[in-house]
Amino acid sequence: MLILAQADCTATQLDEICAHLRARSVKPVVSRTRAWTLISVADSAVHLRELLTEDELLALPAVQRVIYASKGAVFSSLEWRKQPTILDLGDSVRIGHDQAPCIIAGPCSIESADHLRSIAHAVRQHGAGMLRGGLFKPRTSPYSFQGLEKDGFAFIREVLHECGLKFVTEAMDEHSLELVVEHADMIQIGSRNMHNSALLKKVGETRTPVMLKRGFSATMDELMQAADYIMAGGNEEVVLCERGIRTFADHTRNTLDLSIVPALKERTHLPVIVDPSHGTGKASLVTPMALAALAAGADGIMVEVHDEPEYALSDGEQALTLPAFAAMMSQLHTLADALNRPMALRV
Ligand code: PEP
Ligand code: MN
Repeated sequence: MLILAQADCTATQLDEICAHLRARSVKPVVSRTRAWTLISVADSAVHLRELLTEDELLALPAVQRVIYASKGAVFSSLEWRKQPTILDLGDSVRIGHDQAPCIIAGPCSIESADHLRSIAHAVRQHGAGMLRGGLFKPRTSPYSFQGLEKDGFAFIREVLHECGLKFVTEAMDEHSLELVVEHADMIQIGSRNMHNSALLKKVGETRTPVMLKRGFSATMDELMQAADYIMAGGNEEVVLCERGIRTFADHTRNTLDLSIVPALKERTHLPVIVDPSHGTGKASLVTPMALAALAAGADGIMVEVHDEPEYALSDGEQALTLPAFAAMMSQLHTLADALNRPMALRV
């Protein structure tokens, strides 16, 4: 159970709440964020509902809401919000339930201004609503290309202005987060950082929409609890992204766990998107899995695209060529029509 009190709840008010709980032999754990004072109690929701009624808790000073969540996650759960969350990034780019599927496309790494510009125009022309591209790259090898880092932000604004796309890029730490918030429309938190609670808390202090990628060994509940770290800080604009998990299967880079899409929809109000590029690691498998993701109910698809994948500075094996991207978009259009969720931008 989580009791949510005002962020500016005083020490005296907090003492009163905690004393009330201790008098019923339950042990409160207190944490504070920019948005809330959170008092959590670990016990079964059924038991607590009988022991402490909502009315009695709401009568305590500064208490705003009481959630008897059945599992670990609260803010990302349907207990917190029954209606689906829809992110509105402006210029008709919306992500969420019953919206046109949001297509996010671009290179794995941003390589140069001209390169980004040509890919951005091409993916826009074929119906993408958002551009992706890493400037800070979490590479497995320290000897691989690490991204253009802060220098890349110099030309981003100009490219975005020209192509009219919204932009998502990864923040890896507090320093890159500041730059991403300043220049991008959405913060990407990568698979490797899904468990980085210190970074998630910082992201929760911003008011920039977030794409949270599933850790490659994270359960569904762990993904939702990572979203809670962000949302507890008051940033409720979060999209969850399935990007494949580690299994014994070795015919793909990761195993794309598409069943998590409908499973998440049963537990969360947050939009869910799928990244079949990292999810398979093979360009030839990206389109079939993008189609499957849409059929499974994904609110969006993120794919890596490169004009010359064989020369890409990262993840060339999984990048769609521009003609392959155009072909995928045309198939997605047909499927989206059949699903009665027509794509926003006609090609
Ligand atoms: C990416 O999308 O650029 C990326 C690095 O993905 P992931 O964090 O899922 O590996
Ligand atoms: Mn990549």
